[in-house]
Amino acid sequence: MKTMPAILVVEDEPSIAELIAVNLRHNGFRPTWAMDGVSAQRELEASLPDLILLDWMLPGESGLQLARRWRADPRIKDIPLIMLTARGDEEDRVAGLDAGADDYMAKPFSTKEMLARVRAVLRRRSPEPVGEAIVIAGLSIDSSTHRTTYAGQTLKLGPTEFKLLHHLMANAERVHSRGQLLDKVWGDHVYIEERTVDVHIKRLREALGAAGRMVETVRGAGYRLTAKPISATMVV
Ligand code: CA
Repeated sequence: MKTMPAILVVEDEPSIAELIAVNLRHNGFRPTWAMDGVSAQRELEASLPDLILLDWMLPGESGLQLARRWRADPRIKDIPLIMLTARGDEEDRVAGLDAGADDYMAKPFSTKEMLARVRAVLRRRSPEPVGEAIVIAGLSIDSSTHRTTYAGQTLKLGPTEFKLLHHLMANAERVHSRGQLLDKVWGDHVYIEERTVDVHIKRLREALGAAGRMVETVRGAGYRLTAKPISATMVV
């Protein structure tokens, strides 16, 4: 992550925009304010921010319409997006996330919550360290080529399983709780439950085939990747 991440705040209410901007500035971010879709578009054409905070209710194009449009724009689509809104019901939340928002914050929110979500989304989107492959007991993962092999055979992993395995291998032998994995691999996303981790661990083990036994369940604690599983019965 850059030292001073740039954040585009799209919000038509000056007092709210000001409050957000002041708090971002005091916490090491560089906020820019746009009061509607037109000026936001102009900002995005001038320079790309590290994250967009987007209000739902805006004059002209709504935040939802903007989110959809930006997600279809190859230049903008990868910029993390958090939607802000007074609407808090499930249907709106789902619509926001479907439109490509990375997270969703219902007004009123505390500045502490806002900062936590901004940091979580940035952390989640920040690229894994590029370069060298990690190799453990014949299992190899390379984040620059996005390849995983075991005993020379290429393995097919989904994007989440890839990230999960990369994290486990980069921190091999260490036990990770489900909460820690959610935080590191998914970011602190409020809509993801801990059992999601179990689902992806299961998929990961299946994709790894014989190397799946290296992903160990540590009872009551979580998961770890180990070069030497103590016994096959440990692997649930
Ligand atoms: Ca508004």
